[in-house]
Amino acid sequence: MRLTDIWKKKRPTVSFELFPARTPEAATTLERVIDQLCFLEPDFLGITFGAGGSTREGSRLLVDKLLNDRGMEVVAYFAGYGLPPDYIHLILEDYQGLGVENVLVVRGDPPHGQPDFKPHPQSFAHASDLMAFIRPEFPFCLGVAGYPEGHIDAASREQDLAYLKLKVDQGAEFIITNYFYDNRFFFDFVQNCRTLGITLPILPGIMPIFSLKMMRQLAKLCGASIPATLEERLAALPAGDQKGLLQFGIDFATDQCRELLQAGVVGLHFYTMDRSQATSAIVSRLRHEGLLEM
Ligand SMILES: Cc1cc2nc3c(=O)[nH]c(=O)nc-3n(C[C@H](O)[C@H](O)[C@H](O)COP(=O)(O)OP(=O)(O)OC[C@H]3O[C@@H](n4cnc5c(N)ncnc54)[C@H](O)[C@@H]3O)c2cc1C
Repeated sequence: MRLTDIWKKKRPTVSFELFPARTPEAATTLERVIDQLCFLEPDFLGITFGAGGSTREGSRLLVDKLLNDRGMEVVAYFAGYGLPPDYIHLILEDYQGLGVENVLVVRGDPPHGQPDFKPHPQSFAHASDLMAFIRPEFPFCLGVAGYPEGHIDAASREQDLAYLKLKVDQGAEFIITNYFYDNRFFFDFVQNCRTLGITLPILPGIMPIFSLKMMRQLAKLCGASIPATLEERLAALPAGDQKGLLQFGIDFATDQCRELLQAGVVGLHFYTMDRSQATSAIVSRLRHEGLLEM
């Protein structure tokens, strides 16, 4: 079902991002994680796609399995970085053949660990160019990425919003945001989008804190800031207490989600990092409190 139709029937939705496993051990873990996350009956699952086509086969297998074996709704992400138009067409045609109805179009970044990777000369420089190519060719319900704090390479938040508007004008039907640790960023972002005339559903991304190292690394990579108040609370936790940190992460994200739900968001999209414990605890608690339906 198209995401926009799901939102017509039910709000707020619950969804989880998964990425394809890169090793046999990770694949075994992912099987268990999928079981646990599907038990929560999410409205859809978002499947990432490695830029440069690096996870093409793994992403396809995961999309096929979830959509056709498990009967889940899926948003297939597509990162076009470095790829030529005919290759992009082939991948998306294949997704269409699998029955994919929703695609999140992102530019992607140079693939990690491949310093020699050369973008194809006909590849697209920006997600808006990808959108302009894909929209007339495919009937997918297309979404694009949004950055409440501005994209890390953007000259300014205003400039980044102007480029977001360009992506929307190319036919996007929904926006999924990067994660943030201060809801104010999201609320201001939505307000600024509405002022610019962007009326689409904007789905907030939530990243539970799993580990301090991972939190800092990812935040640096994607430009999500860690507020001073959060740093203070983290510093007050006993050093090396992984269980305590996980519980703190669950409590922190649950508070964030409560405030977002009370503000009327269309749903909550969890960056699970292929883990289920924190996300399961948060969703179960919000359902228990009556803030989320099954
Ligand atoms: C929800 C979500 C899902 C993601 N999934 C994936 C994934 O599956 N695989 C993956 O590899 N990556 C993924 N990413 C990461 C994403 O690929 C990177 O953040 C990437 O750097 C930007 O992608 P974009 O689609 O936002 O690019 P764009 O919209 O093209 O923006 C990239 C930068 O270029 C600027 N810009 C945009 N248009 C123009 C223009 N016309 N002229 C000049 N500057 C411009 C923007 O301000 C921004 O700074 C995801 C990100 C999010 C938020």
